[in-house]
Amino acid sequence: MKILLDEGKHGVVQGEQLLDGLNTGMARPSRRDFLGNYCEEAIVDCVTRMSRREWLTEVAAVGTAAALKSSGAVRAQAPAGARRLDLHHHFGSPRWIKRVLEVKRQGWQQFQTYTPANAIAAMDAAGVSTAFVSCTEPGVWFGDDFAKERQEAISLARDMNEYGARMMADYKGRFGLFAVLPLPDIDASLREIEYAFDTLEADGVGLLTSYGTVWLGDPTLRPVFEELNRRNAVVYSHPTDATCCHALLPNTSPGTVEWQTDTARAIFGVINDSGGTTSEATRYPNIRFVWSHAGGTLIGLMNRFVGSANLAPEALARTPAPDSRLHHLRRFYYDTAQSTNPLQLGALKGLVGVGQIVFGADYPYSTIVNHVEGLQTVGFSAEELRGIDRENALKILPRYR
Ligand SMILES: [Zn+2]
Repeated sequence: MKILLDEGKHGVVQGEQLLDGLNTGMARPSRRDFLGNYCEEAIVDCVTRMSRREWLTEVAAVGTAAALKSSGAVRAQAPAGARRLDLHHHFGSPRWIKRVLEVKRQGWQQFQTYTPANAIAAMDAAGVSTAFVSCTEPGVWFGDDFAKERQEAISLARDMNEYGARMMADYKGRFGLFAVLPLPDIDASLREIEYAFDTLEADGVGLLTSYGTVWLGDPTLRPVFEELNRRNAVVYSHPTDATCCHALLPNTSPGTVEWQTDTARAIFGVINDSGGTTSEATRYPNIRFVWSHAGGTLIGLMNRFVGSANLAPEALARTPAPDSRLHHLRRFYYDTAQSTNPLQLGALKGLVGVGQIVFGADYPYSTIVNHVEGLQTVGFSAEELRGIDRENALKILPRYR
């Protein structure tokens, strides 16, 4: 079976390859093999020679910040000249990866060989100084009935976030963390926000565009968004295929249509002020939203979202009305993952301005280098590229300046 190289290209051909992989009885690594492979490079259980239990005991004794500092030396300086900040970069704790390999939803293959050290090598090859790690879809629960997985999801979110914090500590300056939340459980998510920001010093949260039958922007999520707004949080979002839409088209991976569409659906959920209602984006002005994949199908829907009158050249040259849909679209950020072509990024630049575009490469579903090369084809000036590579992200992540 050919390894899938690109999360966003699980089209017909790759979809078949994916099925090949599922049907050919490709050997699934045993837990022992898995941990054995992982231990060649893994930082948590091997390099530091400290088990998670030992580490948590140390956390209890001396506090997380001290435990993090003591858990490992600086192990990977960024190469000279590395300056890119990668806001779309996935990671997995050993426990999460084990679940992913068992469940085998889209894109599981890439995590068979995942280690933080491999991620560092890919970052070094592409001039990335810091990657902000996030959990890819389907997040921390894997079926369509959250109630069945609630406790496991809460526990797995904590495991992922602590693992991400350990990566930040052991590769100082090389990783940031967009913490995963066990949504749609509101109370557990509020507890995880507090722990992630106050104890683990996360850089933001990484949300999915939807959870079961609830999309971002749904009023049931307000307690979480109110807290994120209070904290002026960076809210990075990543698409998934919702319960309704795993396989609407035959022989088609949800990565082909659904993920991009779910992104645009979530964006509209957040800016929706239909009937004179107050949009969630207006309710929560302090949240710095970052959308994946250049906003997904946002570009194809912009006429519907803001109306043609707002897209005329003279209208686009004006400052949008306060709290209008276009106002919010122009304060959001969008990453470049799976979108480094002149058509998408050229149109996105016209809609929101190049200052809202941030570098993201979807590791380990891509090599990162291919995104650096792809950006060269778009027609951006050197100054615009500097902004996309680093400066634009620093506006919302200033501690990496
Ligand atoms: Zn991704």
